[in-house]
Amino acid sequence: MENMKQYIDEAEAALLHTYNRYQVVLDKGDGVYLYDIEGKKYLDFCAGIAVFALGYNNQKYNDALKAQIDKLIHTSNYYYNVPAIEAAKKLKKVSGMDRIFFTNSGAEAVEGAIKAARKYGYLKDGRTDHEIIAMEHSFHGRTMGALSVTGNPKYRDAFQPMIGNIRFAQMNDFDSVLANVNDKTCAILFETVQGEGGIYPATEEFMQKVKALCEEKDILLILDEIQCGMGRTGSMFAWQKYGIKPDIMTTAKALGCGVPVGAFMMTEKVGQSSLVAGDHGTTYGGNPLATAAINVVLDLFEENHIIDNVNSVGSYLEKKLDELVEKYDFIKTRRGVGFMQGLVFDKPVGPVISKALEKGLILINAGTDIIRFVPPLVITKEHVDEMIAILTSCLNEG
Ligand SMILES: *Cc1c(COP(=O)(O)O)cnc(C)c1O
Repeated sequence: MENMKQYIDEAEAALLHTYNRYQVVLDKGDGVYLYDIEGKKYLDFCAGIAVFALGYNNQKYNDALKAQIDKLIHTSNYYYNVPAIEAAKKLKKVSGMDRIFFTNSGAEAVEGAIKAARKYGYLKDGRTDHEIIAMEHSFHGRTMGALSVTGNPKYRDAFQPMIGNIRFAQMNDFDSVLANVNDKTCAILFETVQGEGGIYPATEEFMQKVKALCEEKDILLILDEIQCGMGRTGSMFAWQKYGIKPDIMTTAKALGCGVPVGAFMMTEKVGQSSLVAGDHGTTYGGNPLATAAINVVLDLFEENHIIDNVNSVGSYLEKKLDELVEKYDFIKTRRGVGFMQGLVFDKPVGPVISKALEKGLILINAGTDIIRFVPPLVITKEHVDEMIAILTSCLNEG
């Protein structure tokens, strides 16, 4: 068998270098642990970036996918298929949204949401110069439309021009939103909890004021729940805790728990007055394999009381992280909700993350100074203790 170094050299000779990867070749997973090709075990507090909510090698999940593979993997969206119908019904139930379009990724869900919002505006007043207000420090994906609403110049600059008519406001600063609204505004878009940008939950006040503004002016509220949704913050979708409802929302990441699938969903009001036959499409989106994954994921969420686990173990995780904030001067604060947490350092966290990896703990950053904790939603208090012990030993080494 080739060793790790050989594989890494081969990867660097063949793959486009768009990631500075950690020097590990992962091989298999079981529960909340991953194993590299040399058999080293890692406790995973990254979950493939908030994807593998149910943990690895879940027998029921694997069996459901295998059964679907033997039956039918793909048809075209010119025909109906049962897994997609079932998944749409289940997603409607857990989200309270009315109309669903399945995509292959998060970025594509954002693209669809932008198109739906522009079409809604177009049908309302016939204008073709509608504007969308997005937030600074946001992240919505790497395709041109999703990039255009991503509030991070580092990701955008080399790829200008972006799609036009996007304005940026400050998250949790309602006045900055108001200052950007005019009669061309068709939508306001933000992550209910900003992920990549540094784990910033929308404040209650911000959410309520933006929602009221949207209702008053018939502007669509689009919430990106790709990272914070699917139970991660202790409700199926993070916006559900605010007592409001978006007009359009996006989901992906944990939706298929590893099978690439996303969705944008909307209320009946938007569904009746936006995209129609011929306006939007996808070859793979909502295929039987992808939607079979959604079905078994949503079934297992219910059967295994995943959201209850997030709420009980989530508060334990918060308590343990807060203890680190108390103990170490270089940790400034903790931000987050449930199993979407960030520890904010006064220095780059790269060295800590590398050291943790050596000691068998997988963590990721959010920006340079924040360690992000987005574990599988099935972790227990014991896993939190194990993580804290490894992290503490890394912090003590400076
Ligand atoms: C990851 C992410 C995306 C992009 O999803 P991809 O599947 O990588 O295209 C969009 N929005 C948010 C909030 C994300 O976290």
